[in-house]
Amino acid sequence: MDTSLTDPLHSYDRPTDPEPRNGERELDSTLRPSHFSEFIGQSKIKENLHVFIRAALERGESLDHVLFYGPPGLGKTTLAHIISREMGVNIRITSGPTLERPGDLAGLLTNLHDHDVLFIDEIHRLNRVVEEYLYPAMEDFKLDIILDKGANARTIQLKLPHFTLVGATTRAGLLTSPLRARFGVSLRLDYYSPEELHEVVLRSARILGYPVDAEAALEIARRSRGTPRVANRLLRRVRDFAQIEGLNTISCESTRHSLQRLDVDDQGLDDMDKRILLTVIEKFSGGPVGLNTLAVAIGEESDTIEEIYEPYLIQIGFLNRTPRGRVATDAAYRHFQRTHGRSSQPELF
Ligand code: ADP
Repeated sequence: MDTSLTDPLHSYDRPTDPEPRNGERELDSTLRPSHFSEFIGQSKIKENLHVFIRAALERGESLDHVLFYGPPGLGKTTLAHIISREMGVNIRITSGPTLERPGDLAGLLTNLHDHDVLFIDEIHRLNRVVEEYLYPAMEDFKLDIILDKGANARTIQLKLPHFTLVGATTRAGLLTSPLRARFGVSLRLDYYSPEELHEVVLRSARILGYPVDAEAALEIARRSRGTPRVANRLLRRVRDFAQIEGLNTISCESTRHSLQRLDVDDQGLDDMDKRILLTVIEKFSGGPVGLNTLAVAIGEESDTIEEIYEPYLIQIGFLNRTPRGRVATDAAYRHFQRTHGRSSQPELF
């Protein structure tokens, strides 16, 4: 099975970053559930996918193209792997930005076998020319290749195997409508509840072979920004502290202590989350402040703020997106024990 992975776009170093760093990718795959039965939460998505897969298998057809969307670290790549395993086929993995030329796509597509899965991460970042080649490939399993240039130019049509494209994106809104329309199944992943993440932590601790107290696992779960990847990363860091302290089991006390040292607060906010919120509160009087202005003030890419940090801050009710910019909510003021002069929150969209 080919699981060669493309380079990450960004390199992050904070313990709670939702994107895996190079060194952690291997561990990420050790902890990755390989069957639906191990995949915690997202029950509706699992049940539906299970039905679609069984139906396709019964008909002896490839699974229809699937689009997963939602914040990073929620299980999109994992589900693509599970699909390929349940279908009994190979998976090829790539990402939108690495498919620079139509030839890159042609190379991948022509090496697939019937019913194989082609996983394209960050599919919203596909180059438009490549995307146009993808349309007939998805719809009719055909690829038009142009040979030669100028007067000698001619097109040949390649027949492709009946593959399944699994696309993943954190920004469904940036997908063009013709591309979106070619996915037969479109599924949104939501943040996980603390109870679900509790299960994730217990499962991962079992795989890592380091026992964790139930209460400690819940503490990690509560502070994991609703994201399994963050839960696994915090567990590994907390385990490091426990190991160095000579503990055989990760206790609640050592967990709290470790998370404090990692600058993860009781809401799971890390350094960058705090910087975002405190900048809005202190530099912009609580907002509204435009995303680009905020990005400059913090020294972070606006895309990173929008894709990685903001969704969770909005989800827990600390930040609002208004037509005039980002606004810190009363809950955020209370969390940081600040007061403000606003009488009420500005209207939402
Ligand atoms: P995404 O592709 O959405 O960024 P991944 O599929 O790479 O996220 O998931 C990140 C990590 O989180 C995986 O390696 C896996 O260990 C863990 N994970 C994700 N979803 C689940 C889940 N539902 N149950 C258990 N672990 C999960």
